[in-house]
Amino acid sequence: MHIDTRLAKRLKNVKPSSTLAITSKAKKLKSEGFDIITLAAGEPDFDTPDFVKSAAIEAINSGFTKYTPTTGIPELKKLICEKFSKDNSVEYTPSQVVVSCGAKHSIFNALFALVNPKDEVLIPSPYWVSYPEMVNLCAGSARFIQTLPKNNFKITAKDLSSQISDKTKILILNSPSNPAGSVYTEDELRELAAICVKNKIFVISDEIYEKLIYDGLRHISIASLNKDICDLTLTVNGLSKSYSMTGWRIGYLAAPGYIAEAISRLQDHSTSNPNSIAQKAGLAALGAPDSFYKKICQQFQERRDYCIGRLKAMPKIKPVIPQGAFYIFCDIAKTNLDSTEVANRLLDEKSLSVIPGEGFGASNYIRLSFAASLENLKKGMDRLEDWLKKV
Ligand code: PMP
Ligand code: GLU
Repeated sequence: MHIDTRLAKRLKNVKPSSTLAITSKAKKLKSEGFDIITLAAGEPDFDTPDFVKSAAIEAINSGFTKYTPTTGIPELKKLICEKFSKDNSVEYTPSQVVVSCGAKHSIFNALFALVNPKDEVLIPSPYWVSYPEMVNLCAGSARFIQTLPKNNFKITAKDLSSQISDKTKILILNSPSNPAGSVYTEDELRELAAICVKNKIFVISDEIYEKLIYDGLRHISIASLNKDICDLTLTVNGLSKSYSMTGWRIGYLAAPGYIAEAISRLQDHSTSNPNSIAQKAGLAALGAPDSFYKKICQQFQERRDYCIGRLKAMPKIKPVIPQGAFYIFCDIAKTNLDSTEVANRLLDEKSLSVIPGEGFGASNYIRLSFAASLENLKKGMDRLEDWLKKV
């Protein structure tokens, strides 16, 4: 990474996204004709549904191609409020909702709106690669709360209490989580919420994987638990994962009115509205019946079960069984190699692309994505098994 002294200092310590870098490297090699199997992708492998595409085409043909209100078109914001009420039992009004260019954008907005220099943001570790870098960009200080495999990589009330200082401002929660696929139960969230309320800590609740949840578990929004925690929570969600719309860039957050209003001003002077055509597509996506993503979820669960079955029979690797999302975090300590070396060697020697755990704060792990066809998952598992037998 070349750092020119003329660049702003705020970018000096910000690392590139390893997930995006590796995914695009794998895509490039594939397009050049290499037989790459990619288990790196942070996006569903299926195409954006036709009914979503049709809504976008209709938007273009009808000339819906101009600026919209900064925080999104009223119909979409209304539908998002209905979704929160129906799926998450949280009541928001449209003025509390800001539609953005992806959940990533919403999380960045949330941090930018709340973090003053040196404010501490608590991040359970392992974490999604972008959280600490975003905190960095906002001149805040990321403080990691180490989680343990025996707790399914979730923080406990005790873990949280022990990390709070007078500088603590925000806790980032991600359930279902990337990379470990952890899902918090209602009781666990109640305990964490009580501590946040007592200490007046904001919660950024990243719920982007809410629809991808397995074994009959139920997703709980922390904001639904009571009014006190709702008043401290910024709930983030988006269309990328549930509707395979990663490239369309539509996310949203809902927050107490004064925070949503501040974020609206931020978007006024940064991105303005999210893409008008994608907003119309988003209306169609959010209007889809529950059966739509239930089918997808079932497919993902079958893939997960297949991969876990295979991984359990392999030497030198120990998979974490994910309860949600579409990643399997695997302990590779027994290879005696660090995760970057494992990922590089798998790509070079087996044309298999995976993500090293280092960017997630866990250099003894690699992340495999099962957002791939069963045929490719089988090939990927064969290559991994073959390689592990030789190291
Ligand atoms: N949060 C998590 C945990 C993610 O894995 C992703 C994936 N990109 C995002 C947020 C952002 O999603 P998007 O910006 O595509 O809506
Ligand atoms: N969130 C996905 C992942 O973790 C997509 C890439 C990204 O936005 O970081 O792979």
